[in-house]
Amino acid sequence: MDADTLHITLANTSYKPILAQIFQRYHIPYTLLQDSRSSIIPHRFSALFSYYLKSDTDSLRNVLDCGVFHIEQLQKLKDYLDVFSCDIKEPFDHLQGITEQGHILDTVELTKLQKLEEDAEQVRRQVKELTDPLTQPDSLPALIQTVSTYVRESIAQDGSDTNILLHIETMLKELYPYINKKEDITFFLYFLDDISQSSAPSQRKGVIVSDLRQAPFCREHQFLLGCTQKDYPAFQTKKGIFDENYHAFISTYPTMEQRYQFYLEQISAQLYAAPHIYVSYPLGTYEGKGMEAALEIEEFVRKLLHDPKAKSSPYPLYGSYEPVSTNITLSPAMAEALFVRDGNIHGSISALERYVKCPFSYFLRYGLSLREPMKVGFPDSYAGTLSHYLLETFTEEYGKEYTRVAEEKIEEILMKEITVMQDVFPSLEKKLENVAQRILTSMTQTLSLLDEYEQHSLLSPYQSEKEFHYQIPLNEKVNLALKGYIDRIDTSDEFLCILDYKSSAKTLSQTNVFAALQLQLLTYAIVCSKEFQKRVLGAFYVSLKNENIPYTAGKLSRRKPVTHMPSSKEEYEEVRYKSHRLNGWVMDHEIQALDDNGTHIVGVTQNKEGAVKARKLYELSSIERYFTQMYQLIGNRILNGDIRCMPMEEACMFCSYYEICRFKGIYAEKTQLVEVEDDIYQQAKGSDEDA
Ligand code: SF4
Repeated sequence: MDADTLHITLANTSYKPILAQIFQRYHIPYTLLQDSRSSIIPHRFSALFSYYLKSDTDSLRNVLDCGVFHIEQLQKLKDYLDVFSCDIKEPFDHLQGITEQGHILDTVELTKLQKLEEDAEQVRRQVKELTDPLTQPDSLPALIQTVSTYVRESIAQDGSDTNILLHIETMLKELYPYINKKEDITFFLYFLDDISQSSAPSQRKGVIVSDLRQAPFCREHQFLLGCTQKDYPAFQTKKGIFDENYHAFISTYPTMEQRYQFYLEQISAQLYAAPHIYVSYPLGTYEGKGMEAALEIEEFVRKLLHDPKAKSSPYPLYGSYEPVSTNITLSPAMAEALFVRDGNIHGSISALERYVKCPFSYFLRYGLSLREPMKVGFPDSYAGTLSHYLLETFTEEYGKEYTRVAEEKIEEILMKEITVMQDVFPSLEKKLENVAQRILTSMTQTLSLLDEYEQHSLLSPYQSEKEFHYQIPLNEKVNLALKGYIDRIDTSDEFLCILDYKSSAKTLSQTNVFAALQLQLLTYAIVCSKEFQKRVLGAFYVSLKNENIPYTAGKLSRRKPVTHMPSSKEEYEEVRYKSHRLNGWVMDHEIQALDDNGTHIVGVTQNKEGAVKARKLYELSSIERYFTQMYQLIGNRILNGDIRCMPMEEACMFCSYYEICRFKGIYAEKTQLVEVEDDIYQQAKGSDEDA
């Protein structure tokens, strides 16, 4: 079909932008008979007037976001307001006097915030100068004048369309005699919201696109799109104060039925305007809600079919289900330039796990170094960091006796950290008090659980937050240089074990380990086996959360006489300890050194003879071999520039880059990176279950 023979009528005008996009993409000439676009100009007026009416932080943010002020470093002010949510009338200086730092808010964090404050303060002064005439205008005319001037100046800066500005200024002039007091501005805002930029084409070319209220164009092919019951014929009844009931009282006014019939007659002209008519409607919305054809259209088709001369047939539509390729690659030279420094791909284990979950997100973070948004206030992850810090402090100071630390001591260290945060984030004072109380309760309970474990272990805490470096060669020139921190290493003369604190119960799944999704714990074990001349008993997660425990209130005996035996405190304690056992992989048959009665580690039990045994015994040397293969595979994929956008399920859930990649495809499946044999067990009795 030639574009000049087509006319499209839209029952739903929201199709316009998408049609325009399609025509532009395929270079098809087209003309929108009436193009209506929203403009930022009314929004700028609205934001400034709203700030005058209510000068709070939200209104200020709207002013700063609408682009009316062209100030260098304006973003710094927005970032500062996001973090501290304070009043711009007062100087931003509360951080400058703070010298005390804590473990969570250390010097680096504090200096970053202080620098942000300095920059934001400079912008604040400029913004305040501009906003003062809005919050304290000499008069309403002065206010209107200021707002107009600001918007006019902003247009001069960014070259927006002036037509709409003139339109609003004319409106203001007309309304001016009626704006007598502050509240009258609200009335004007109502009109501003409805203003959009509308333009008619100066010349017509190609496909003509119009809507139902415009006359048909008499071309060879007429398309009528979006004829659902909702959008066709879309007769507008009278609403509001002067509704249909009101009009029914006006005897000379046409009845609703008359108007409806007249309207139908008018728009049905679209159906007879061309030799070929194509009518379509969607079967459903994007959300999957079903839609049906308009009754009037069904009636029209029925009539046509009864006419022996009329030929009506479904338009042939072809479905295409070809997957969109998301395999993005960089050249090896580019990959090397982005990821390799001094002959090494540097990084943490979690960075590599990120690569496995989504190579594209790794590229954005470590290739392009896109910073993730600053954490505001007290994000949940800080609670975990604080608990880690408390345990690290106690084990360093008290060794194996750390579980006996008095509540007052916990509170003392905790509150030192919380106070620093309260000084930095004064608006979060109450929230931080609650957080402190929560951490205090949970830490006291965790220590009581760990106390029970310590009494059955021969090992003692040896090092906390131990820094490690681990290098794996990828080729003759490049190594993978891993760096990280091990939460805790416990040792005795002969043995060692790795403990990793987690904010909730976690298992070490064999499937995840060899899909390279849980590399940390076992890498720690490999590193320590090399560094310390001791036998590695195992590597385990320690949950710092007080788990919810399903617990029965008691037992009912149905034998006569029916009796109820309430559960005892001992039974409750047993269930509690059981649900807080260490979880991980055992690597030495002398595991009784860590758990002398087989009740503190999942998968470890004591038999009738008193021997403590692990259900599975893993072979660390084999694990190391598989890990080297996996690390080399991942490292070489990075070196080959494989940055495909194929995330695993859940990878996108907490990813800060969603707005950039807008992933909408099918998630990648979890796959094993290496073929694992039974040699991962010391005794070949493996199954694929999780430990
Ligand atoms: S949002 Fe999903 S697909 Fe996009 S970068 Fe993040 S993880 Fe990858």
